[in-house]
Amino acid sequence: MELNRATKDGEKIVLDFDYAGELNDPPKEPRHLRFVTPSETSGHIGPEGVYIGPETAWYPDLTDSFAIYRAMVTTPPKWETIGQGTMAGREVTPAGTVTTWDTRTPAEGLTLTAGQYLITTRNCDGIETAAYLYPEEHSLAELYLGSACSYLRAYIALLGPYPFPRFSVVENFFASGLGLPSYTLLGTGSIRRRYIQPYALGHEIVHSWIGNYVYNDHGGNWVEGLTTYLANYYWYELQGDREKARDERRLMLFTYAVYVSPQRDYPIAQFKQKVDAPSAIARRPWFFICCVARSVTRRSLEPSSSWSPDTADDIRAGAISKRCSARPRLGIFIRSSPIGLNRAAP
Ligand SMILES: [Zn+2]
Repeated sequence: MELNRATKDGEKIVLDFDYAGELNDPPKEPRHLRFVTPSETSGHIGPEGVYIGPETAWYPDLTDSFAIYRAMVTTPPKWETIGQGTMAGREVTPAGTVTTWDTRTPAEGLTLTAGQYLITTRNCDGIETAAYLYPEEHSLAELYLGSACSYLRAYIALLGPYPFPRFSVVENFFASGLGLPSYTLLGTGSIRRRYIQPYALGHEIVHSWIGNYVYNDHGGNWVEGLTTYLANYYWYELQGDREKARDERRLMLFTYAVYVSPQRDYPIAQFKQKVDAPSAIARRPWFFICCVARSVTRRSLEPSSSWSPDTADDIRAGAISKRCSARPRLGIFIRSSPIGLNRAAP
């Protein structure tokens, strides 16, 4: 689209798009692991639930826009919508429920979910936390909110202020384990299994900082590696549980040895996504890079050294202005190790 005149300095141009369509791509059975990846549905609006994400292309966007969003959604009565950021309004009208979601933190994309949920909220040290569960799982709300608050407290002390105004645990109509800006989307099976462990809910909460605030670049997936380190493992160190921490390190070595034969091995920089078993465990070399880096540099992961609220903000500002610039900062931590980033996975 071209403008047929010169623009003035600081001029703001508003483009209005008007379009309509049907989104009908029911999620397929999981092909990998136990979760459906977003690539297995391009978005769906149906009686069982709503899931529309960046891959649905349901809003106008530019590549790497890191946009902010305001979405106003009308759903049938008794349906609730969850978007990113803050719920800026919710009005129940005879025609349905109108909910407005406001995202002030620049994000890679916008994912919206809706369903017939019962909502439970709780204040966790000034952060609004909420559980959006189907009536059958409603009794688990307090369990999830209590765990979420424990993780938020621990990781705020480590990584700096929580980057969003709200955190929600949201039940999904298909099997999923997704950490999205300001909420996590978990399939019914996971919710029923009480998915509150460090590798589960803890992991999705760490993604609030690593992956949804400081972004991955187009190279290797260090976001998964660092999140796995900080959640699946470091949680036990934070709790002073040395035995569990050692078990976790052993499990990492064990699964890597069992699943990755030399023929299936590949350089760590090629690990992009958790799409099959070998790449799912490709996070493990990243995990050990973090372990080695930490022991070689003898840095503790306390706020006063490697991380601080300022560092987190610096990284984020850098990452938004240039996607890769989160890397050199993190490199301070990682480059100090004897293992090169581009070296093949050990
Ligand atoms: Zn993850």
